[in-house]
Amino acid sequence: MESLVLRQTDYGDHDKIVGLYTRKHGKISAFAASAKRSQKRFGSALDLFSHITANAISPAGQGKTLWRLQSIDLINPNVELRKNLTSLAYAGYFADCVWNLLADEDPHEDVFDFLIQCILELAKPQTLSNLLHMEIELLQLCGYGPRFSECVECNNPISSTKVFFSFSRGGVVCSTCTRNDQGLWMPTQISKNAEAVESEKDFLAVRSILDKFVTFIVGRELKSQSFRREVHHASV
Ligand SMILES: [Zn+2]
Repeated sequence: MESLVLRQTDYGDHDKIVGLYTRKHGKISAFAASAKRSQKRFGSALDLFSHITANAISPAGQGKTLWRLQSIDLINPNVELRKNLTSLAYAGYFADCVWNLLADEDPHEDVFDFLIQCILELAKPQTLSNLLHMEIELLQLCGYGPRFSECVECNNPISSTKVFFSFSRGGVVCSTCTRNDQGLWMPTQISKNAEAVESEKDFLAVRSILDKFVTFIVGRELKSQSFRREVHHASV
């Protein structure tokens, strides 16, 4: 089955458990026997973000979720991605979003294709607005698309100079629809241009909203969020 390697952990002295996002079965975890001890069997094909065809046996028995990896064919190791820390940080964050926002074995071919496309794109230099655009589209495909342009409740355009982004309602709400809710205020001007930001300052304003929104949905901050933030601050 066509897959992307999104996670990898050592298991004991010899083995590994890998998290795969597959086109046909959605996200699965698979046991890779001897993957740690012997490079021969799987080689570098289990490196993060490798695009592979995995031959795996589905779990047998009720309540069992771990697949067994038999062999792998490498489609694209995506090595270019690993040469740039910002690209790697974004790929890690996108992988974490897919892993945490979607349920086990719940396939979404559109998410799979988009993630492959993001990983290929991230190997090349990206503008700030491109990065936001990718992130917003990925969240949308996962069922959590944030709405920045008009009120999520009444669809009216926002006329005030500041607007409230509600985390539970997944978007901006106008002053008539604002209730006591978890969220953040942001300048309407930035909200209207959320996917077409030009300045570093506006980018960080939208990023901050998205970060807290994703943390709200997942219920905790993802490690890849703080890592991406550190990398961003180190690179400017
Ligand atoms: Zn409204």
